[in-house]
Amino acid sequence: MSQVASTSARNMALKLSEAGILSAEVLKAVSETPRELFLDAALAHKAYENTALPIGQGQTISQPYIVARMTELLLQHQPQSVLEIGTGSGYQAAVLAQLVPQLYTVERIKSLQIMARQRLKRLDLHNIAFKYGDGWQGWRNRAPFDAIMVTAAAAEVPSELLKQLADNGVLIIPVGEDHQQLLRVTRRGDKFTSEVIESVKFVPLVNGELA
Ligand code: SAH
Repeated sequence: MSQVASTSARNMALKLSEAGILSAEVLKAVSETPRELFLDAALAHKAYENTALPIGQGQTISQPYIVARMTELLLQHQPQSVLEIGTGSGYQAAVLAQLVPQLYTVERIKSLQIMARQRLKRLDLHNIAFKYGDGWQGWRNRAPFDAIMVTAAAAEVPSELLKQLADNGVLIIPVGEDHQQLLRVTRRGDKFTSEVIESVKFVPLVNGELA
C-alpha cells in the first residue's frame, strides 16, 4: 500500500493492543489502513472508534477489534491462500491483503462489491480476487484454501466451506442468530475440530438470492 499511516489509525492500533491483540503484524496493518476510506463521508469522523458502522444495504463494517482478532487467529496458520466471505466495505480485505500472499473475497450485494473493489485498487492492493456470489457455496474453482474467514453470522457451519479447506486449514466463522459465537474450525485430514473463541455480533450470512 502507498498510504502513510495516520495518527488516528496508529492510536486505534494502540487501543487494540491494550484490548488484547498481540500480533505486531496485525497491529501494523491496522495502523496503516485508512478506515475512513471504507465509510461514507458523513461517518468518516467515526472511522477510528472501535465500533461497527453502517455501510448501506443494511450491512456494517465490522468493529476494528473483531477484524484484528479474526485476522490474528487466521495468521497463526501462516496461510498462503485465504478466502473471505462477505467483502462488504472491503476493510477486512484490506487488512488481510497486507498480510497474506493471495486473498479471494465473495460478496452477494453487487453495489457493495463495486465500491470495495474501487477502494482496494486505490490503496494499491492487487493480490485480491473478487467474486459476486453466494458465500455459502465458497469459491469452488479456487479451492482449496489454507484459511477461510466468514464475516457474517451463519445459522450453521456451511458444509461446502469445510470441503474447500486445505488439510491443516482453518475456518474462522461466527455462528448463531441472537447469540453468536466465533468458532475456529481446524481440518486434519477428514477430521474437523471446533473451538469457541468468544461471543460476537455480526449481520447474518444470508441464505437466498443475490442482490
Ligand atoms: N468484511 C466486511 C464485513 C461486512 S458485513 C467489512 O470489512 O466491511 C457482512 C457482509 O457479508 C455484507 O456485505 C453482506 O452483504 C455479506 N453477505 C451476507 N450474506 C452473504 C452470502 N450468503 N454470501 C456472500 N456475502 C454475504
